[in-house]
Amino acid sequence: IFDEFTIKSLIRPVPGFPKEGVTFRDITPLYQSPRAMRMVADSLIQRYVESPVTHIGAIDARGFLLGAVLAYELNKPLILFRKAGKLPADCLREAYSTEYGEAHIEVHRDALKEGDQVLLLDDLIATGGTFLAAARLVSQLGAEVYEAAAIIDLPDLGGSRLIQDAGIATFTLCAFE
Ligand code: IMP
Repeated sequence: IFDEFTIKSLIRPVPGFPKEGVTFRDITPLYQSPRAMRMVADSLIQRYVESPVTHIGAIDARGFLLGAVLAYELNKPLILFRKAGKLPADCLREAYSTEYGEAHIEVHRDALKEGDQVLLLDDLIATGGTFLAAARLVSQLGAEVYEAAAIIDLPDLGGSRLIQDAGIATFTLCAFE
């Protein structure tokens, strides 16, 4: 069974990373706990196993780890949304700004098509810029975002609200105010 207290206790606050004034939420202790990771994975599998999701869209880089588990268990294609310059074939690109600055995200042009229902996955929602950029790529390819899911929400940064305001459902397993 899912135990939010256990999950949250394995997310380490790192003050001053990557810059002063920011407290980074470090999920490596969570990834180091097989029991907690199984809880996280099982919760997500249970939520989506009977959903109309056709593709798992994983966000570079910590979203890949979760994405691989979900794609395997749900037996769905795994689509990589990567930071600029990493994907080798023909790509679409979107710009976005994070807590820390400007960035670009890319996806292969042949990764999705009209009618596909994509579950976007990442470790954390901060300002929402990353998920919104990935969602723009999904819609440019004619597909739809079924839901944007992450382990952690930082609601004070307003990202999950912004994503919902754009008409995209979000799902997170815990939040840090
Ligand atoms: P957003 O685009 O501002 O929502 O930022 C979310 C993206 O930045 C995700 O890909 C996260 O992995 C990363 N990120 C931002 N802040 C943190 C943090 O405190 N811990 C871990 N990842 C973070």
